[in-house]
This record gives sequence, structure tokens and C-alpha cells, in this order.
Amino acid sequence: MEQHADQYIGGAWRPSLSADSLTVLDPATEQALATVPAGGPADVDAAVTAARAAARTWAATTREERLAPLTRLRDGLAARQTEIATTVTAELGSPIGFATAVQAALPLAVADSYLAILAGYEFQEQVGNSTVYAEPAGVVAAITPWNYPLHQIVAKVVPALAAGCTVVLKPAEDTPLVARLFARIVHEAGFPAGVFNLVTGLGAVAGAALAEHPGVDLVSFTGSTAVGRGIAETAGRGVKRVTLELGGKSANVVLPGADLARAVNVNVGNVFANSGQTCSAWTRLLVHEDQYEEAVAIAAKAAAKYVPGDPAEPQTRVGPVVSARQRERVRDYITGALAEGARLAAGGADAPEGLDTGYYVRPTVLADVTPEMTVAREEVFGPVLSILRYRDEEHALEIANGTDYGLAGGVWAADNETAAAFARRMDTGQVDINGGRFNPLAPFGGHKGSGLGRELGRHGLEEFLQTKSLQF
Ligand code: NAD
Repeated sequence: MEQHADQYIGGAWRPSLSADSLTVLDPATEQALATVPAGGPADVDAAVTAARAAARTWAATTREERLAPLTRLRDGLAARQTEIATTVTAELGSPIGFATAVQAALPLAVADSYLAILAGYEFQEQVGNSTVYAEPAGVVAAITPWNYPLHQIVAKVVPALAAGCTVVLKPAEDTPLVARLFARIVHEAGFPAGVFNLVTGLGAVAGAALAEHPGVDLVSFTGSTAVGRGIAETAGRGVKRVTLELGGKSANVVLPGADLARAVNVNVGNVFANSGQTCSAWTRLLVHEDQYEEAVAIAAKAAAKYVPGDPAEPQTRVGPVVSARQRERVRDYITGALAEGARLAAGGADAPEGLDTGYYVRPTVLADVTPEMTVAREEVFGPVLSILRYRDEEHALEIANGTDYGLAGGVWAADNETAAAFARRMDTGQVDINGGRFNPLAPFGGHKGSGLGRELGRHGLEEFLQTKSLQF
């Protein structure tokens, strides 16, 4: 087992100032993979001090001076695709096929997109007698979760560096190994010391110390709504900018006339990918009452193809969930839904057959779910699909919007125009029309309790910029 005792601060790996450590578990075997330091306020302070010291010089670099190391960072991500995928499979349990195609490839695509955006971005505009400059926001605290661990790091760190900000990253405690790999890639790319810093540690200790550090100008957080709310309060007291990417309870609405089989099959794949641990997953499938039983049958049949297994095997489609705690949470939601009157169409709360070791959950389809049920309101973050029935379009919209969240969604109809008209009335940040593909250039973020601000594309870069006007 690897034992790490260092943090990446000020351009070098330095012994952590904390003697505490975190043990990283393989969720498929429950065995320890490694230990990393559980950094404390002293590590955070050293990292913020290093980022602050580097901030003015990095902010004054030209576009070309930033593009050079960012291009080497992109090349490092490309060269390490296999190592990234195997690391994410080991610490998260994401199946190797998915880890390769998404967990490793998506961050590379996002890094690529920012090279192009930075190359063409206008950092200056003329407004009457004023020249308006888009300047870096300063020192960024990036706090990330474990479900798409490298994607969430890259979606913050790369645009922040492109904008001319310096960064302190505090990754999730369950998945620090891919974060350490990322730090090695950043180091090899040759950024000036202090431009990027990594502190591993517990959220309530290292994360909290970072979010409230007076040397931080902007906090970019992805994680749960409960923690996000606390971070926004802390940032408010310090008058710091804050970006929050929080949870979701997204609806996939199948309007009459749509290709029902395709809509349901795509939804099942969407919810079971990454063991359901996707903030934008369509966890609520809304079907017209006349087609309801047909949809449940299609979903149950599709779910049977998602057999949990060893994530290291190339044919595995569903691995374990990240931790024992997460497994218990998901099982409790399934049991609770059945107690509240939902009908089990596939899966269930019991451990999958033959998988007594590992944090496995059976891919589950729940029918007869109504909007008041807990499983229809709260984020499960596991392989659980709830199917709800609606009477007419207005009723479907009321159900779709009847949640505290508003991150993503889907609409299926006989034609794109009908689906788009419905989608425009949904209180949510992104909607896929008739199976429209994920676009890493489109702004990603939430309405309502799903967050503040946007990531990805030009909008994601602009989160890390602030304006200054000079009048002539
Ligand atoms: P979490 O909020 O517990 O943790 C997220 C990060 O915050 C971790 O790095 C954690 O260490 C840190 N943290 C925890 N407590 C903290 C505190 N008091 N102060 C500062 N930092 C703290 O969330 P999680 O359980 O790790 O992640 C799952 C959640 O993230 C889900 O709710 C999911 O929907 C959400 N999520 C949202 C998006 C999005 O883009 N909207 C993406 C992925 C995950």
C-alpha cells in the first residue's frame, strides 16, 4: 500500500504539516489502496500563501505565456489517459470502460476546449470612452467531489489558470489519488511555483479552512447542497465570489408521440452510468398515464442488462458505489420508497447475488412513484430510477418543476420544436432534446438549489474574471 505524506505547495511536494492521514479504499474490494495526508489549517494557510505570492505575476502574464504550460498540461492529460482511468476505477469503482471513455477522456476534452477559448478570448473591450478589461479574479479555492473526480478538478483549475488566477485545490477525501496524479501532471507542465497547489484532507477541516481563508478571493465548489449553502454563507461574510455546482433531481419528460422505447432505454443508461453517481442524472422519468405500464416494462427489461460486477473487467457496466456509507444511503432510499408505496420493477435493496464484498447496489427501477415521496424529492446518488405518471403536459411541467433542484433534464417529443417549447418552461440549467448529446462547450450549472454560476465553455472561463473600467 502506498503511503503518501506530502502536499503539493509552492511548486514542490512538501511534508504535510498535519500528522493525520486518510485511508483510500477500493470500493470493489474494500481493501486499502493508499493513505494520503489529512491536511489541516496550517497546510491550507501555506498553500494559500503560496498562491497569493504567485498571483500578481501570473495575473500579469500574456495569453501566450499561459497557453504554453496549459498546452503541456493538456498533453500530460493525453499521455496519462490509461493511468487516469485505472486510478479512477481503483478509488471510485467506476467501470474501466466508462472510466476510459468519460472519467479520463472528458477532462482532456475540457482542457482542449479551454486552449481554444483562451486563444480567441477578448480580454478587453471598448465601451464609449471606457476600456473595459477582464482581469483574473485572484486566488481561487477549488473544492471538488468524488463522482467525476478529475473532470471536476479540470473544469475548475484549467479555466482558472487560463483566466490568470492561482489555485488551491482541496479534492474529495474518497478520491485523492487522481488529484495527486493531476498535481504531478501540472508540475511536469512547468507552471511557476505557487500557481497551482494541492491540499488533501477532510472537508470539515481542510475544506472549511480553505473556504474561510481571508487570502482566498473566489470559492468554486462542487458537492452537496448542504455543504454548498455553508460555503456560500462563509463567502458572504468575507465578500468573496462563489460558484456552486450542487445536487440535482432531474426530470426526463417523455411527451406523447415521442419514441418511448428509445427515451426509456437512454434514461436507464443515463441513471445507471457511474452507478448513478451523476449530479445531472435523470433520476425521475415522467411518462403519460396511457403509456405508463409500457414504459415500466421497457425500463425493467433494460435494467436487467446492467449486472453489477468487478469494475476492472472491461465488460462491466455497473461497478460498486463509492463507499459503505453511500451504499447504506442508497439502500435506505430504496427501502423507504417501497414503504411509502412505490412498486419494485427491477433491482431492490438487497446486495446483488454473489457480491458480498464491495459496495454494490442492485440497479433499481421504482414504479408508482408520486411527487411527494422522498425518493422523488431527494437526491439518491445511486443506481435508482423513479418512474412517475402524468395526466397532461401541464401536469408533467408541474411535476418536473416541483423540486428544490434544477440542474438538468430531458424532453422527448415527436419533433424537436415541441420538445424545445416544453424545455423552455423547465426551471433547470440544461435540457437534452430528443437525446441531444452532452456538449462540453455549453454552460453547465443549476437553477434554484442546484447552484450559482456556470462551468465549462466561455461561461466557465468568465466565472474567474472580474472587470475593470478605465475612462479616457
Ligand atoms: P460533499 O458536499 O460532502 O463534498 C464535496 C467536497 O466538499 C469534498 O471535497 C468535501 O471534502 C468538501 N467539504 C465537505 N464539507 C465541507 C465543509 N464544511 N467546508 C468545505 N468543504 C467541505 O459532497 P459529496 O458527497 O462528496 O458529493 C456528492 C454531491 O455532489 C452530490 O450531492 C452531487 O449532486 C453533488 N455534485 C454536483 C455536481 C454539479 O456539477 N452540480 C457535480 C458532482 C457532484
